[in-house]
Amino acid sequence: MTADTLAKLDLPSLNQMFESADPARIVEWSVAQFGEDLLMSSSFGEDSAALIHMAHRIKPGIRIIFVNTGYHFPETHAFLEQLRLRFNLNIWTYRTRNDPIAYLHHAGEENPAWRKDITACCAANKNEPFQRAMKELAPKGWLRGIRRDEAKTRAGRQFIEWNQGYNCHAISPLLNWTAREVHAYLKQHDLPRHPLWEKGYASIGCNPLSCTRPIGEGEDPRSGRWAGQDKVECGINQYKNSLDSANL
Ligand code: SF4
Repeated sequence: MTADTLAKLDLPSLNQMFESADPARIVEWSVAQFGEDLLMSSSFGEDSAALIHMAHRIKPGIRIIFVNTGYHFPETHAFLEQLRLRFNLNIWTYRTRNDPIAYLHHAGEENPAWRKDITACCAANKNEPFQRAMKELAPKGWLRGIRRDEAKTRAGRQFIEWNQGYNCHAISPLLNWTAREVHAYLKQHDLPRHPLWEKGYASIGCNPLSCTRPIGEGEDPRSGRWAGQDKVECGINQYKNSLDSANL
């Protein structure tokens, strides 16, 4: 598949078709369309096992990018290992270039449990490794697990979008699924959730309280991320049409 051919994908028609498609069919279409140039990213968060299972079942050995910021919960690493061993996953971990302790010192972050400058920390420790991964692996198709019901920032997203910043198509097979449908899929396939989910964490990122906290009843799942800040996306999943409007 050449870049010229890929550029000719009729995104409006595809998005219209995907609105009523089962997520697994969207993954199958992506595998047929992009072949070895398809990969996925995962945060190994609360319900990440659903898309990992679906993609791995349709394309065993699919490359999975995981960004290690240096500030994840120990439970996240344990969850990743649990899934890696169970499915023999092909995980490509991209680490921050910073030593986690040294970064805090140099950035003037005195409290390891709280970030004063979230934008700078995300840029250095999350977005940079992800951008490096996408540049090195150079996919033509990128599967990601975002859903419209997670947050207002995701309500207007499309199933397939051209991402200028990463120079590839971003495909979100679970976009129309509700949390209930994800839960049903996990149950149907006997898949685990992130261990912190049971403790009220509905969206799990890094461990400082400024970045991930449990949510209250009725709050949307992403409200536990960067609570009290004017920020809902870290950047990876924000990239839509340019690096300035990028999405993690
Ligand atoms: S989520 Fe928090 S700890 Fe993680 S990279 Fe962003 S600011 Fe840093």
